[in-house]
Amino acid sequence: MSVAAQYQAFQQLGLKLDMSRGKPAPEQLDLSNALTGALTSYLAADGTDCRNYGGGVGLPEARALFGQLLDVPAAQVVVDSSSSLALMHDVIVYALLNGVPGHAPWVQNPVTFLCPVPGYDRHFSICEVRGIKMINVPMNAEGPDMDLVEKLVAEDASIKGMWIVPKYSNPGGVVYSERVVQRLAAMKTAAPDFRLMWDDAYRFHHLGERKLAVANILDACVQAGNPDRAIVFASSSKVSWAGSGVAALAASPANIAWWTKHAGFRSIGPDKINQLRHVALLKDVATVEALMEQHRQLLKPKFDAVLAQFQHYLGEVPGVSWTLPEGGYFIDLITPDGAAKRTVALAKEAGITLTPAGAAFPYGVDPRDRHLRIAPSFPSLQEINQAAQGIALSLRLALEG
Ligand code: PMP
Repeated sequence: MSVAAQYQAFQQLGLKLDMSRGKPAPEQLDLSNALTGALTSYLAADGTDCRNYGGGVGLPEARALFGQLLDVPAAQVVVDSSSSLALMHDVIVYALLNGVPGHAPWVQNPVTFLCPVPGYDRHFSICEVRGIKMINVPMNAEGPDMDLVEKLVAEDASIKGMWIVPKYSNPGGVVYSERVVQRLAAMKTAAPDFRLMWDDAYRFHHLGERKLAVANILDACVQAGNPDRAIVFASSSKVSWAGSGVAALAASPANIAWWTKHAGFRSIGPDKINQLRHVALLKDVATVEALMEQHRQLLKPKFDAVLAQFQHYLGEVPGVSWTLPEGGYFIDLITPDGAAKRTVALAKEAGITLTPAGAAFPYGVDPRDRHLRIAPSFPSLQEINQAAQGIALSLRLALEG
């Protein structure tokens, strides 16, 4: 059967599949249902009444938990909000309006961020909406092109920051090597108030048997004499419940004091009840790792199904490749130049919603129009198989016409 006929047959199935966002599936959310009954008391270990205002830096036991999870002293951790993205946004807004410790507000001069690409669309949206110019930096197997990064930050004092997803990056699944981490910590920046936005979103989200580790960026920055350079973000969004998890920020004592001051104007204290029940559920690194193994058991077959369909339908197609992630939530399907947008449009006509082509790039523009972010987590295994087949057929048809 021709590709066009196969595509038409697929279209006639009349499916409605959403592969656009990396959301946990209901079965994954069910793994943390114990949260509903996890509270035995509304008092924290130190007697804090969690029903009331206060505790801007987070409960001591929640800070200790995230300190353990992130390998950082608890005093250098703030637990706040349910969304790490919100914390990233606020760091940027505070830096724009007030400056980072000891420096003038960023907003007084043009501000630029380096953006390893393909990357996380919502990072780029924050920059866009807050008036920060973005420069693409290509990703390699071990992290961004560091020769280019070092050159740019040394020359251009408007470069105040850089987005980093150090492990199982969204969407390429890249794991930063120790050498890259060290170069990022040590590189000479023309801007003295430069910050690494270190988004450790997938620290425990392994798909393979190997649990890959990335070097500790805060330690590397201290050793390189740049203790305030990195701000680390994480959350339990894809560990417990994506809409009601807990988020954390880890950084140098100076950055923590700065954050605490500014966050104190924004809120009279975070949801400590949620922190308390998360401490009861997640307990320690071993408990989190055991929970993540259950997530892995649910996710791995879905990733494998996509990869098998791609191999079957696209394995022989010149110029088409895809990543084989060892963790995280995405597969990056790479098409020949100029075929990604057309593939998304054809997939849409066949009932499959994909992330818009270009979304993984600043301003939504993939200069070569060739990256498709595939998010296998949410649909059922059967739907995933169908969707991957439909995407592959859409791509093949796009290449024919
Ligand atoms: N960072 C990355 C790299 C992500 O992929 C996501 C979710 N897709 C987030 C942050 C969102 O994190 P949170 O739910 O903590 O805001």
